[in-house]
Amino acid sequence: AKAEGRNTYYYYSDQLTAQARQRLVLEGRLRNAVKTGQLHCYYQPQLEVATGRIIGAELLLRWRDPELGFVSPEIFIPLAESSGLIHALGIQVLQQACVQGKAWLDEGLPAISLAVNVSAHQFSRGELGQQVRTLLAETGFPAKFLELEVTESALMQDEDKVIETMQQLRATGVRLAIDDFGTGYSSLAYLQRLPLDILKVDRRFICNMTTNPDNQQITKAIIELGHTLRFEVLAEGVETAEQLAMLQQMSCNYYQGYYFSKPVPAETFRQLLAQQQGV
Ligand code: C2E
Ligand code: CA
Ligand code: CA
Ligand code: CA
Repeated sequence: AKAEGRNTYYYYSDQLTAQARQRLVLEGRLRNAVKTGQLHCYYQPQLEVATGRIIGAELLLRWRDPELGFVSPEIFIPLAESSGLIHALGIQVLQQACVQGKAWLDEGLPAISLAVNVSAHQFSRGELGQQVRTLLAETGFPAKFLELEVTESALMQDEDKVIETMQQLRATGVRLAIDDFGTGYSSLAYLQRLPLDILKVDRRFICNMTTNPDNQQITKAIIELGHTLRFEVLAEGVETAEQLAMLQQMSCNYYQGYYFSKPVPAETFRQLLAQQQGV
C-alpha cells in the first residue's frame, strides 16, 4: 500500500511537472519576445455610428512565435499577468500608442484617439499615472488622444486605490473607458463614482442582438444607462449591417467590429485613415 501511495504521488507529481514545464517554456519564450520586441500592436478602427467616420483605434497585441506560430492574447496576456511581464509589456504598448499617434498627427492625418488595454495588475501597482505622464511628455502625444481601457472586473478590485489611480490619470488629461461592460456586476453606485468617459458594451450582448430580444433590450438599457451617467457608449464586436442599424436607432455613439474591419497592422490602419481625409 505504501509503494502504491508513492507511485500515485509520483504519477501526479510528474503530470504537474509536465504542465509546469510547458508553462515555463512558454513563459520563457514570452519573456524573450518582450525583451526583443517581438510583439506587435494591431489597430482596430473605432467609428462614429452617426457618420461612419473613423474616430480612433484600439491597440491589440499580436505575438507570432517562430516555432509555435500565432499565440492568442487570451493565452499570453494571462501568462504575462501571472509572471509579472505585463508591466514591461504594458509600457511597450503605451509607448507604441504615443509614438505612433504622434507620428500620424505630425503627418497631418485626421486626429484620432488611440485606446490601450490596461490590465488590473498595471492598474493596482500605483505607478501607472506617473508612467503615462512621462510617456506623454517624452513623445509629445497630446493626452486627450490617449484612452485607457480597463475591464469592469479590474475596476472591482480595490475600490479606493482604483479611484485614486483613475483620478491621477484623468488629471493628466487621458480618457478612461470601461471595457467588457455588462459582464462584471459592478454596482450602479460604484459606477457613478468612477471618473469614466466611455463605456464599452461587451461583444456578447451585440453578437446576437438582432435575433435575441433579451440581448437587444439589455444593449438598449446599457446605452441609456451610459448616457444617463454622462458617458459616451461604444459597442464592441459589431459584425453586421443589421446590428449597426439597430445601434444607430439606440443612439449608440461609437462602434468597432469585423463589420468595418478586423484589427490590422499599423500601415493598413494608416491607409484607412488617409482615405477618409477630407471627407
Ligand atoms: P478586448 O479588449 O475585449 O478586445 C476585443 C477582442 O475582440 C479582440 O480580440 C478583437 O480582435 C476581438 N474582436 C473585435 N471585433 C470583433 C468582432 O466583430 N467579432 C469578434 N468575434 N471578435 C472581435 P483579441 O485581439 O484576441 O484580444 C483578446 C483580449 O486580449 C482583449 O479583449 C484584451 O482583453 C486582451 N489584450 C489584447 N491586447 C492587449 C494589451 O495590449 N494589453 C492587455 N492588458 N490586454 C490585451
Ligand atoms: Ca479592450
Ligand atoms: Ca472588450
Ligand atoms: Ca475581453
